[in-house]
Amino acid sequence: MAPVSTIETFEEAQEIFLQKIKEDPRLKPVAAKKLLDLAKELDASTEEKLGDLSLQLPAEERIKQGFLKFKNNFWLKNPKLYEKLSAGQSPKFMIFACSDSRVCPTTILGLQPGEAFVVRNIASMIPACGEAGFPSTSAALEYGVLHLKVEHILVIGHSRCGGIKALLTTDPEKKWSDYIQDWIKISTPVHSNQNHSHDIDERCSCGEKESVNVSLSNLMTFPWIKSAVEEKKLALHGGHYSFVTGTFQYWTPGSDKVDF
Ligand SMILES: [Zn+2]
Repeated sequence: MAPVSTIETFEEAQEIFLQKIKEDPRLKPVAAKKLLDLAKELDASTEEKLGDLSLQLPAEERIKQGFLKFKNNFWLKNPKLYEKLSAGQSPKFMIFACSDSRVCPTTILGLQPGEAFVVRNIASMIPACGEAGFPSTSAALEYGVLHLKVEHILVIGHSRCGGIKALLTTDPEKKWSDYIQDWIKISTPVHSNQNHSHDIDERCSCGEKESVNVSLSNLMTFPWIKSAVEEKKLALHGGHYSFVTGTFQYWTPGSDKVDF
């Protein structure tokens, strides 16, 4: 058995615990009380404690525990949903969101598996049709619109977006690493609507929403998107999620923003 100081997994800790009781059965009531106290402590703030603990786990164990939690709490409890999904997908939504770890779109909008075809990239930018060098985003658009025939495209910006800050604070003398520099240029039009008397936080907040509008405009440069929108088979939507204030702003191209 491994020395106590090197124990990392729940299973190893459990083994040590059982071994101690086996060696001296008189410890049973003491052990029972300690376990009950521990269970009560975990009950008090389970999610918070598990969240903290999960940060300390080795990567493989964190992946395993995360998957088993999902499997037990969701996959096993929704057999009809997974039977339907195994036959294919027909999501109504296509969503563009930032790769930022704080803004998972299916989490913040409560979407179920199968409801949204999702693309995540730096600052949720969408290049114009034919813009050289960005086939990944355009290929996903092609698949979502032409093959899955999604009915809605939602582009979501977010608070404290590093991609937008990089765009708005780029020093011409100091180049970002090559791929980022080329990518954030997609939203260069955001610069023209900047109020330079505002501080950088305000400019970024405004830029995060303006960048969504640039992407919504770029969507209309794809002829098959333009015709689908004009035929009302496809609708475009913009959004801005703030994890600072816990709010979501929603709008459609040309309309006022609504706070949720
Ligand atoms: Zn971002």
